[in-house]
Amino acid sequence: MQSTDNITQANSSFLWERNAPASEEETQLFWKKLRHFYRTGEHSNDQEGPMSSALLSLLDNGEQAYPFMLGGDGAQSVIELEEKAPVHILNSLLKAHHKESRKSFKTQLSSLIAGLNQLLQIVDKPKKVEELKGNFDFANELIAFDKMVDLIPQGATEMLSAERTARLKTILSSLQEGLKLFNEQEGILVLEKGLKFAAKQKSLFEKVLIIETENNVFEDTQKLFAQQVKSFTALIKAYRIAKLEIDDEYNEAIHDEYFEHFTWYRLSPDELNLFQPVVLLVRQQHLFENLDSFSRLMASNQPVNILVLNHELISTPDNQMSWEDASHQFRQEIAALAIAHRNVYTFQSSMDKPLAVYEGLTNCLKSTAPSICHLSVPKDETETVADKALIAKAENASRYFPRVLYNPAKVSDWGGRFDLTDNIQPLEKWPAYTLDAATSDHTEVMIDVAFTYADYKAIYPEKAKELMIVPSAYYTEHLIPLNDYLDSDQTNLYGKIPYIWLIDKDHKLHRAAVPNVWVVSCQERLNYWQFLQELGGLNGYKAQTDLKEKNLEMTKKIEEERAQMNTERQQIIESAQKEAMAQAAEKLIAVLLDDEELTLDEVSPTKPIVEPKVAVAQQEEQAPIDKKETPPATVASISEKAWVESEECTTCNECIDKYPNLFKYNGEQQAYIEDPAKGTFEELVKAAEKCPAACIHPGMPLNTSEPNLDKLVKRAEKFN
Ligand code: SF4
Repeated sequence: MQSTDNITQANSSFLWERNAPASEEETQLFWKKLRHFYRTGEHSNDQEGPMSSALLSLLDNGEQAYPFMLGGDGAQSVIELEEKAPVHILNSLLKAHHKESRKSFKTQLSSLIAGLNQLLQIVDKPKKVEELKGNFDFANELIAFDKMVDLIPQGATEMLSAERTARLKTILSSLQEGLKLFNEQEGILVLEKGLKFAAKQKSLFEKVLIIETENNVFEDTQKLFAQQVKSFTALIKAYRIAKLEIDDEYNEAIHDEYFEHFTWYRLSPDELNLFQPVVLLVRQQHLFENLDSFSRLMASNQPVNILVLNHELISTPDNQMSWEDASHQFRQEIAALAIAHRNVYTFQSSMDKPLAVYEGLTNCLKSTAPSICHLSVPKDETETVADKALIAKAENASRYFPRVLYNPAKVSDWGGRFDLTDNIQPLEKWPAYTLDAATSDHTEVMIDVAFTYADYKAIYPEKAKELMIVPSAYYTEHLIPLNDYLDSDQTNLYGKIPYIWLIDKDHKLHRAAVPNVWVVSCQERLNYWQFLQELGGLNGYKAQTDLKEKNLEMTKKIEEERAQMNTERQQIIESAQKEAMAQAAEKLIAVLLDDEELTLDEVSPTKPIVEPKVAVAQQEEQAPIDKKETPPATVASISEKAWVESEECTTCNECIDKYPNLFKYNGEQQAYIEDPAKGTFEELVKAAEKCPAACIHPGMPLNTSEPNLDKLVKRAEKFN
């Protein structure tokens, strides 16, 4: 796109300087070093000043996620993106946890206590007699109070047996004890000893029982839950019996046996939600070191909530590791481990969307099964070059820390339990963006980019130093974008080096080669993301394969129809030619016999034959599919092979820069396609769409197994 200086300056955020190509010899020398770097990661630091990913600013959509206003216990609090943010949110949630239902339960407990008291007083005949005597002492001599007690209406309640009275007294005292507990505690927080920053926040939790444990936190929490839920179960048991008693529906023959074996397993979800949440705050490392007891706790189905905080900036396997080692390591994924238990409510997120974190944590606390909330939180002392909230967003975009929601209680169908839709561009492998840059001659160029895990790592200048800058003089078609590299078959990668875009302090763009160890970790992250997509029903393998097969079938059908149409057309032309020849011969004979005048044209067998329109129309009717998908009239005029109207090319570099494998300049510095087989049909269509001179014609696909062909052919139509 050609533009004026002003517009270029206003629209383009980046400057992309291009130098004249280096000599063949220099280029070969540079590429030798580059290939060595790719394999070993070794290079002399050639970066001028600190550089970082050019893609981070593309995530900034102007929305400010922080400070986040939180309403808790009636009071508003402000959450900033800092290490203690999750603890603040947790505190607020514990205060608000089922506040209304707990309040209404307390009211019910109070009225049950009053009802039981009343029941017990009514049956206490001597006491009632004494009370009546006190009220009517002026007529002590005249009234038979014991008879009068019998006359007082007693509703449905009858005089109770000693067993019933004892039962009523027991449940009355259980209800009174339980009510006290409800007023005293909002939750139980178990802290792994050593979690210093959490310990510092202890004063935040006013009505929460805090327990620090040195041993195995999972075993300790399991025991603690069993202990605490015992008194709560006794309360619910008393509550249920009290209701039955007051309604006079307690049937000893049925209910004695039932309540004798009443454990927390019998609590309904509503009742379980009245129980104070038990939250375990633990480090990721501790969880991995105690996987067996973590798994036992999850399998126990106890509704314990585990909050795990991740402070790692990058994935573990790729830190200071050779690519051979890295390629044999996969990051352990807490969310995947939890999901493998099937019954565990699982939420994982970076802190980019505080509202999503708030809702995820809320649902963890509400879960009546075990739950786990895994959050990636920046450390306060982390020095960053950019806004922490934007980095949190990059954690999501780069698939380093995707948002995962698995709710086993939602539906019984497996796929319906997942929600990945709140991730950035959830259907894509990597989110796609466009870098808007201006070249040194003020030409505006739009560069398609993908936000990979390598782009996330390169946000940190100390990591970006591990990359090798490729000066534009050494660009060749072997330097390819990292996402394309990750997408290609091994056989197409010989000699290729992947790159990502970096930016320096002057906003100048640089292509930076990525070493193999980075490629391996990108593959690992992509692998995890695709695993999640598959679980969540996004881009599932089966669906993709079916689609590919459908595309193949359709392309085959189109080709067959087209071939048949060409044959039939050829036959019509041949028969018309024969007919014309016969007519010409007849005419010639007539002339010879009758001396009739005729011109040469009339007898020439090479006279152009006008295609019989009716016949073609019939063909169209006989081929309804072809008529809809590729109208025969168009097919006849389309060049099937991709080509460039080179004389129209404005030398804007767009196609040359993006698809150097496909497009080259001729002697007049105008683009042409060297070999369409060197790229994909998608690349040709994209190039045609971006070409400001509209002089690229993608033709028809060469590779019929390329994905999404039906859509691409449609997109290509207007350029052919
Ligand atoms: S053919 Fe390529 S270089 Fe020429 S105008 Fe189109 S996009 Fe630009």
